[in-house]
Amino acid sequence: MAERTLIIIKPDGIQRRLAGEVISRFERKGLKLVGAKLMQISREQAERHYAVHKGKPFFPRTVEYLSSGPVLAMVWEGDGVIAMSREMMGSTFGAQAKPGTIRGDFSCSPEGINLIHGSDSPPSAEYEIGLYFSPEEMVSYSFADERWVTGKKS
Ligand code: UDP
Ligand code: MG
Repeated sequence: MAERTLIIIKPDGIQRRLAGEVISRFERKGLKLVGAKLMQISREQAERHYAVHKGKPFFPRTVEYLSSGPVLAMVWEGDGVIAMSREMMGSTFGAQAKPGTIRGDFSCSPEGINLIHGSDSPPSAEYEIGLYFSPEEMVSYSFADERWVTGKKS
């Protein structure tokens, strides 16, 4: 199976009606949506999500931010999708993220209000996908034009 990653359009992305813009960028890149869920993340779930950051000064407000309104949780698939989506997102703070990236184009925040979450490694992707999706909630399928998009013969 191709690599998968967890992408979340965070509460500011939903409130600012940028979900379509973000999805569109992933679609145009050629990546494959295999799971999606509009949901409200609980404080406990946000604490589990950011468990690696527990104890850091920004942990409480980051948990509060992720659970502050509805989000769109998605699983995207493709060879190299984790690294590609991190590049597409841009660096953590919108105020510093490069133009052309999602955060660079749509966030000016120096405080980590940055529209999108994406897993940063295969182990984090596996852990994070498991927090939001059961295996039956993801769908495996092929694109008819796969070989034109990836160069792979399916
Ligand atoms: N964050 C913050 N201040 C920091 C570092 C992180 O507010 O100094 C927030 C920000 O919303 C970020 C999230 O915590 O997206 C998780 O931090 P991480 O370092 O994992 O950044 P990311 O992987 O999202 O770029
Ligand atoms: Mg991270």
